[in-house]
Amino acid sequence: MSTFEHLDFFGDTLRESDFQTQIMSWSCDVHDIELVSNGHPLQLVAATLFKVFSFDDTGCIDTATFMLFMSRIEDAYQPNNAYHNRAHGADVTQTVAMFLHDPTVSALCTQLDKFAAVIAAAIHDVGHPGVNNSFNVNTKSELALVYNDISVLENMVRWFVLLVLLDLFVLFCFVLLCSFSSFCFP
Ligand SMILES: [Zn+2]
Repeated sequence: MSTFEHLDFFGDTLRESDFQTQIMSWSCDVHDIELVSNGHPLQLVAATLFKVFSFDDTGCIDTATFMLFMSRIEDAYQPNNAYHNRAHGADVTQTVAMFLHDPTVSALCTQLDKFAAVIAAAIHDVGHPGVNNSFNVNTKSELALVYNDISVLENMVRWFVLLVLLDLFVLFCFVLLCSFSSFCFP
């Protein structure tokens, strides 16, 4: 379950705790972020970046949908993976954000470029099993068989994200159907 409801990412808590200053710094410690977010570092980083980069201005997505997507992505990182876990996802996302925040890079990027880069960073190792492509291919793992030894982990990440998007699409269709039903049959 997401703790988004329990942490006021966009309100006074964010300002009081100064998460934004911490996250938009090269000295940011992702393990500190993991602690203060009750084990949801990717959501806290993502919520902060949504605000810092004003992603709502892109007209692509609203805050609630963005955070729902990020909570599903965070949940799909393997908790028993010592390195490629949700903290690593948050760490890479925060680092990418620091590059995007650089005035020279920022001037070359549109809002949509920045949005795409943050999404790419957040999802880049989702579902990572803790072993690399060579290991999968050489041990003829199930994953290597599924993806025919070609870019095994990269294809797995694409599949994971597609499943999350499909899941959200079904959820939104259900919500839309419920709204329509209550409108037609009050
Ligand atoms: Zn990585």
